This record gives sequence, structure tokens and C-alpha cells, in this order.
Amino acid sequence: MLNVGSINEGFVLDHIQAGKSMEIYHNLNLDKLDCCVAIIKNARSNKMGKKDILKVECSIDMLDLDILGFIDHCITVNIIQDAKIVEKRELKLPNEVVNVIRCKNPRCITSIEQELEQVFILTDKEKEVYRCKYCEEKYER
Ligand SMILES: [Zn+2]
Repeated sequence: MLNVGSINEGFVLDHIQAGKSMEIYHNLNLDKLDCCVAIIKNARSNKMGKKDILKVECSIDMLDLDILGFIDHCITVNIIQDAKIVEKRELKLPNEVVNVIRCKNPRCITSIEQELEQVFILTDKEKEVYRCKYCEEKYER
């Protein structure tokens, strides 16, 4: 059983690949929010050996599930209310990610016009391939 500690309202991201929690912390812009965040690294896991856990005390509306799904759709999202898990959310690969990753093609319009949004489209669900909306450059993870 997951110990949610003193969180009254917020969410717990469980089954994060060990070592990935800081990347997720930054990609979700948690460093810019004024909320309480606990990062647990290398927790023991029956399923994964080692895992990271992120506990965040803030409204669930602040969480971008698309970005999270893009980073790792195997993460478990537990929604906490009144210090109890009230819901678990499934993540899926989003069809589109905006301003999360940058196109590396130097000839791409987004490399020249910096103010353009960085849009990547899921073009192959099975292989988890994303391509730049503008130049179709494949994103390499
Ligand atoms: Zn591009």
C-alpha cells in the first residue's frame, strides 16, 4: 500500500522509472509552481526492482497528463483527496505534444522562427514514433 503521507489533495505518480523523476519534475513545470513536492528516488518495487515516486500537493488540474503520457505512459497516476487515493488514471500516448521537445533539424522552420510552437505528432502508435509537424523529422528518444 502506498503511503501518501500528509497529502490532502494532490496526486502521486508511482512506478516512475528509477532516475526519471527529476526529468518529470521539470517537464511538468513543478519547479515553477508554489506547491509541496516530495521526490522519492530508488524506492523498492516488486514490479520494477527500483522506481521513483513523485508526490505533489496541488490541484489535479495543474497536471498535464499528455506530457506525462508522452514521457512514460507506464506511470501510475493516483489522485488524492482527503489523504486517500480516490482514483487511478491510465496514461496514454498523446496524439500531439506541444512545446515539450524541440525539433533538431537545423533547416526546420522552428529552428529559424523561434517563436513558433514546437509541435510533434504521433505518427506510429506501435513504435511510439513522433514527428515534427513542420518538417516531419523523427524525434529520437
Ligand atoms: Zn521540424
